Amino acid sequence: MFEKILLPTDFSDVAEKALNFVKQLKDAGTQEVVILHVIKKNSPEVIAQYSSIRDFEEVEKEVEGDARKRISRIEKELKECGFNVQVRIETGFPFSEILRVETEENVSAIVIGSHGLSNIKEMLLGSVSESVIRKSKNPIIVVKR
Ligand code: ATP
Ligand code: MN
Repeated sequence: MFEKILLPTDFSDVAEKALNFVKQLKDAGTQEVVILHVIKKNSPEVIAQYSSIRDFEEVEKEVEGDARKRISRIEKELKECGFNVQVRIETGFPFSEILRVETEENVSAIVIGSHGLSNIKEMLLGSVSESVIRKSKNPIIVVKR
């Protein structure tokens, strides 16, 4: 039922909580975890660091390198728990990339945080988790903040 889990992460505290939940799925039969980070197209991170003296591609590479570093820490932790781990870093709209990878990797379920980096107190769900819940055909475990 939970053989292959998709774990989308924005490296927020809530996504970290989702990671800790996934670790417990070993006992529920999870073998494989696909960790996914989506670098937002035209993300503020990239734009904020951009100036005419710096090459846009160089800034994008830095953001990607940073993501790779952070995701490899998660990869290591999950491997230490005995999972087979795959790492994916994609660029685009987070929700559509999550849905694309879900189909491509043929996962059995998604474990997602209810909120992410914005974590607005009044919102029941963040916009990424809301869109994923609406559109995914798979079971989704929402880990609350
Ligand atoms: P919003 O982005 O709508 O302002 P938020 O940041 O509080 O709100 P979401 O972005 O919906 O909430 O985040 C919910 C969960 O979705 C995260 O815990 C994470 O699992 C996943 N997620 C969000 N952004 C990304 C991303 N860029 N790449 C991968 N997963 C993501
Ligand atoms: Mn967000």
